[in-house]
Amino acid sequence: MSNVETEPAELRCGATVDGGRPAGKTRPTALPGVEVLTAREVPLGGPRAMLVRRTLPQRSRTLIGAWCFADHYGPNDTATGGMSVPPHPHTGLQTVSWLFSGEIEHRDSLGSHALIRPGELNLMTGGHGIAHSEVSTGRVPVTHGVQLWVALPDAHRAAARNFEHYVPAAVRLDGAEIRVFLGSLAGDTSPVHTFTPLLGAEIILGPGATVELGVDASFEHGLLVDSGDVRVIDTLLRPAELGYVPDGTEVLALTNESDGAARAILLGGPPFGEEIVMWWNFVGRSHEEIARAREDWEASSDRFGVVQGYPGNRLPAPALPNATILPRSNPPRRRPAPER
Ligand code: MN
Repeated sequence: MSNVETEPAELRCGATVDGGRPAGKTRPTALPGVEVLTAREVPLGGPRAMLVRRTLPQRSRTLIGAWCFADHYGPNDTATGGMSVPPHPHTGLQTVSWLFSGEIEHRDSLGSHALIRPGELNLMTGGHGIAHSEVSTGRVPVTHGVQLWVALPDAHRAAARNFEHYVPAAVRLDGAEIRVFLGSLAGDTSPVHTFTPLLGAEIILGPGATVELGVDASFEHGLLVDSGDVRVIDTLLRPAELGYVPDGTEVLALTNESDGAARAILLGGPPFGEEIVMWWNFVGRSHEEIARAREDWEASSDRFGVVQGYPGNRLPAPALPNATILPRSNPPRRRPAPER
């Protein structure tokens, strides 16, 4: 997926993001320990612009662990709202594609040609540089899922291109069905290597179900609700909301308060201690780095390679903003609530 905004604004702390569109707001909650981050709708672009609900990054929060970007989309009619993103570059990050429904054809400059399907992790590493395209095949009528980005830590942010595929088994715990695609949860561990400790899992809760999940207390977590109303500890999240739980929490209690099944994605990791600069599809550490990545893409540099087999033109980079792109980091740390 590409951050295909026609005027991608600089992203920095305290700024309105995305070219003046209203940034997501933090809804006050009764419990100071859980923040509710609401989504804003962003067109993904391409010939058939698909709207996605973006909860990261936003004004009040840039990262949850190393997770730096969270787009949630669908359920869409594939014929009119499927994914169609021409070849575009990435640096300094990994992309995680996770579908609930649909089928997306992935091609990248490593030579990978893969079908992305529900319940299967597809993790692409675009450290120094990679390019890829993503197109709904049209064979499945509904397109529905998330795309998430992971910021690479300084020591590994020029990592070689890579593309990994993993299908986690479903784990049952209380009334929950859990698929752990990165990290460890509910007794299951993903074998996929990450450059910082991470958690990524899909959780499906039956009607009225409650599950208590032991989690790493050094991790902060985010629960992105896809469907249903899910109470996290003591805060109710509605569909498309991302509930942020600071580190210091050892048990995440989730309850499905809706009549049907609920589904959510749980993200986690230790607070990412580095400031990052995000612009378009690049994660770097300075404006100059971002400008160089843009120049390299526009010059068809070997840095990104060539996506073979895509029937069309690649995406041109938008113009850089006039102002220097400044680093982003999270707001000052809050102390977790003493009791919850
Ligand atoms: Mn992409």
